[in-house]
Amino acid sequence: MEEKITLNLFYMGLISAILAAVLSGLVFFDAFRSQVAEDLQRQGKLIAVAYQQLGELECLDGMAEDELRVTLIDETGVVLYENATDPATMENHLNRPEVQEALEEGEGDAHRTSDTLGTEDYYYAVALQDGTVLRVSVSADNIYQIYGKAVPYLAAIVCGLMVLAVVFAVLLTRRLLIPIKKLPEYLDDPDLADDQSRVYPELKPFVTEIQTQRRDRDRIRREFTANVSHELKTPLTSISGYAEMIETGLARQEDVPRFAGTIRKEAARLLSLITDIIRLSQLEGEPDETASAPVELRALARECAEMLLPSAEKNGIQLTVSGDELHVMGQKVALWELVYNLMDNAIRYNRPGGFVEVTISGRKLTVSDTGIGISPEHQERIFERFYRVDKSHSRQTGGTGLGLSIVKHAAERHGAVISLDSTPGVGTAITAEFPEE
Ligand code: ADP
Repeated sequence: MEEKITLNLFYMGLISAILAAVLSGLVFFDAFRSQVAEDLQRQGKLIAVAYQQLGELECLDGMAEDELRVTLIDETGVVLYENATDPATMENHLNRPEVQEALEEGEGDAHRTSDTLGTEDYYYAVALQDGTVLRVSVSADNIYQIYGKAVPYLAAIVCGLMVLAVVFAVLLTRRLLIPIKKLPEYLDDPDLADDQSRVYPELKPFVTEIQTQRRDRDRIRREFTANVSHELKTPLTSISGYAEMIETGLARQEDVPRFAGTIRKEAARLLSLITDIIRLSQLEGEPDETASAPVELRALARECAEMLLPSAEKNGIQLTVSGDELHVMGQKVALWELVYNLMDNAIRYNRPGGFVEVTISGRKLTVSDTGIGISPEHQERIFERFYRVDKSHSRQTGGTGLGLSIVKHAAERHGAVISLDSTPGVGTAITAEFPEE
């Protein structure tokens, strides 16, 4: 970006310098023209006065200088005198605009570009009392010649300006970019980020957005750590409590198997909790693109159904998988977790004798159940980590509160969009819509 800004500023400087040189040349040329015309008029008037006083053609010879052409023309256009050429060889001058004008209005001027000589000829004509017209003319450089002479100087000036443009472009870019380069520093300090003189107003929304994101991330991380500690502590406290009772002989002999059962259950909970936490952190990290492979989701759902059959049967729940095949490019483990967790929840939050249906249509996979449903105020939040509508129900059925977070992350990783349709007391349908391959 720095290079681009510097280059653009430099181009701007260069174009301005060239434009200024060309335009000022034009203005100066215009002034130069008026000056030449004015001088010529003055000289013409002087010669006319002098000639009328002296009244002799020869006296004009003395008045004509090297560069000044003097011509005397009679009222019919015949050239009576010319200092530069023989008047006899000259054509009739009646049609010359300056002569016409002088005959009509007393005086006239004109300038014509001589293509062959590359000069510009200026004419001034004045009518004399005897009816003749005295015309004076000079040749001056035309605009191209003036430019031609000025080119070396202009080139030198433009070169100098180019160097200046480079220096200014670099310095200006540096100054412009300071607030942007220092942005990471300002982001850490809310006072600096609010300082109008340091942060460009145009960047303010960006700064605010990043700060909000950072704050949210920090809050979520803190909450997650607190939740994890709490979730781990509960089963460990119960395990160590029961183990201590057995160890100290406080537990009656007949209670020991029951306590051991509780210890085993709590340990299993700990294990699944730790497995889910590790899985979640893996899904939140960078995806391993090399692990991507074609996966067919109907077959995968059938595999999950087979694994979940015992828990479905225990609750008298019917499990069906139907619909088209759905081919997705992705990571099988993550996709398996997505489908498995949705189906597991559909069984765990169902009613005895209910149904769980997995249907695939197009690129949509829907898991629907006839369970307890989720009331609208909870629907937004159930994908958050450790968010549970009914903690004890979740725990009783072996939930960790992380299942839907894993679903969300697995879906995001595959570009799938999750949508939820649930009515309390009627059932829930969660759909994952995969993008076209
Ligand atoms: P858990 O391990 O508690 O099931 P999840 O992240 O899988 O955690 O789900 C979060 C919460 O969402 C659950 O505790 C439950 O209250 C609610 N929930 C998820 N799936 C369903 C469902 N199919 N029917 C009703 N409630 C559900």
